[in-house]
This record gives sequence, C-alpha cells and structure tokens, in this order.
Amino acid sequence: MAQIKSINPSDGQICLSIIIPVYNEAEVLPPLIARLSRVLSSIPESAEIVFIDDGSCDNTWELLQQLPVNSCEHQCIRLSRNFGKEAAMTAGLEQARGLAVILLDADLQDPPELIPQMLEAWRSGFDVVNMKRKKRLGESWFKRFSAAAFYRIINGMAESPVPENVGDFRLLSRQVVDCINSLPERNRFMKGILSWPGFSQTEILFDRDPRYLGETKWNYSKLVGLAMDGITSFSIKPLRLATWAGILTALSAFTYGGWVLLKTMLWGETVVGYPSLMIVQVALAGVQLLALGLIGEYLGRVFMEVKQRPIYLISEVEHKGSRSQNEAG
Ligand code: UDP
Ligand code: MG
Repeated sequence: MAQIKSINPSDGQICLSIIIPVYNEAEVLPPLIARLSRVLSSIPESAEIVFIDDGSCDNTWELLQQLPVNSCEHQCIRLSRNFGKEAAMTAGLEQARGLAVILLDADLQDPPELIPQMLEAWRSGFDVVNMKRKKRLGESWFKRFSAAAFYRIINGMAESPVPENVGDFRLLSRQVVDCINSLPERNRFMKGILSWPGFSQTEILFDRDPRYLGETKWNYSKLVGLAMDGITSFSIKPLRLATWAGILTALSAFTYGGWVLLKTMLWGETVVGYPSLMIVQVALAGVQLLALGLIGEYLGRVFMEVKQRPIYLISEVEHKGSRSQNEAG
C-alpha cells in the first residue's frame, strides 16, 4: 500500500475531480448540483466538477452553462455528438486535473454523500476505491441475472479481474488515471480498463438507489454490445474455445466417418442414414458459423483499432471558478 497522502489545499493544485457524464439529464441536474455542492462544501480539499455533455439534445448544455459558481470549479465539456458513456468518461479522465478522481453518474444512483468516505480511504493510502453495490434497487430480475452471468464469464476469461457489482462509480488516484490515459485502445470497455492497472485497492459497500428521475439510456441491445466489447477486448479465450470445439468436432467427425466406411465395407451400402447425415451436417455447419462469427467479432475490433480515429470530439469547453478562463477545445 502507498504511504498516507499529504494534502495541502492551499498549494493551488486541485485535489479532487468529479467526472459526471451527462446525456439528456436536464431534469436531474438541479437536484444533483444541490446534493453535490452540499457535500463538496463540507470537505477540506479543493474540488472541481468535470461535466461531459455527451451530445445531449435537451437543454442539458444550457443548464450546465448557468451553473452557479460556488465552492468549487466547473469544467463543462461538450462532445460534438453522442459518443456513449464509455467515450464520455474517457474524455473526463483526460480533462480532469485532480490528484484524486471520482466517476459519478448524473442520475443520483451513486450517492454523492459517500464522497467523504471515499476520500478518507484515498487519504489512508489506497489508489483505487471501488464502490460495490449491496443491492441493485430498481433493476429487473433479468438485468440482475444477466449482470451476474456477465461477471462470471468475464472473470473466467480475462486475466485482470473485473470486480463484481462495482460500476463506474469509484475513486482513482492520479497515478492510476495517468496509466488509464496512456492506454491507446479505441475500444473503451471502462469496467475492464478501470480495473486493469491494478494498484492498491479497497472496497466500500453501498446501496445503489434507483434512478432519481428520467429514464435509463441503456437498452438490452446496447448492453449485449457492451458485454461483447468487454469479453473480446480483455480475453482471447473465446477464440481458443472455438479451436477446441473445432478439434472435438473434427475428431468426432473422423471417428464417425471411419465407422461408416467400415460398416459399408463389411455389410455393403444401404440407403438408410438420412437422419444421421442431416444431424451431422447441421451440427458441423452450426459450429463453423459460430467460430466464423467469433473471428468476425475480433476482426471487426481490429478494424476499428487500426482506423485510429479519436475516441471523442470536443465541440465546446467552459471553465468556471476562481481560476477560470475560457479555453477552446
Ligand atoms: N450517459 C452518457 N452517454 C450515453 C448514455 C449515458 O453520458 O450515451 C450517462 C448518463 O447521463 C448517466 C450515466 O451515463 O449519467 C449512466 O447512464 P444511465 O443511468 O442511463 O445508465 P444505467 O444506470 O441505467 O446503467
Ligand atoms: Mg443510471
């Protein structure tokens, strides 16, 4: 474990950055700011809030520009379109200046009141403070079941473990943030990327509230895409499984072929055998298509990586606070 962090709020360095990705969250912004301001005015550290507007089409951006300047600084960053939460968080991590960085959802599912407890753990020397959900309130049994299955699969396959029921709500030290910012990949499966650097970690259990207002921005097809991204960007074991399935199928096919040949040589040819022929044909075609699809998934991701496109584009930046200056993106 690293030694106790010494913090001097008067040295001009921002101690804490809170990154909040926002996408069409106009209705939750006022209660979020009210709760966050109360918490931030109760801590000794200097803080900044980094809002990333992920291409909202309601009046989220206008609301962000009208934020009152009080105990902490604000950076409001507007992406040129909706790039998705993973890209928005990447933008936030690259723009944040704090020695400790906290990722927070805008919808008040992650209670800001836990920030002092997270800072306490960071001050005592931990580089990563994972916030683990005790219960998943407001989620259907299907979402809870699919989440459990996902963690089981990814932790069975990936080399760096992804802590179960820990969302993006966590605290990262500057050292960890710098490591994450140095990762060049475009495929940003953040639960994997945030856990990948390692360093000294601790966990705090909390009850995750249901969304305060508005609707979730995820649907099942997006979640399946995220799960596929997670598995394929952190493990090549599915490819190995496909190889094993191929070997087993080929071995069974050769054995069965040998048996059919022997039978024909001993007892002659008969016309029976249509059902077994069909079953073998369909089974082989199925396994081949599955393996091809799997290779396609990886190939698609290699294609996305080699294009080297930026993960997000910034269209506007607003800084507010004591050290504020308007900067161009
Ligand atoms: N979000 C985002 N871009 C998106 C989708 C979501 O920045 O394309 C933000 C959203 O505004 C919220 C956070 O990501 O602050 C979590 O989204 P949501 O609550 O919809 O996800 P859930 O909690 O249902 O997983
Ligand atoms: Mg939410």
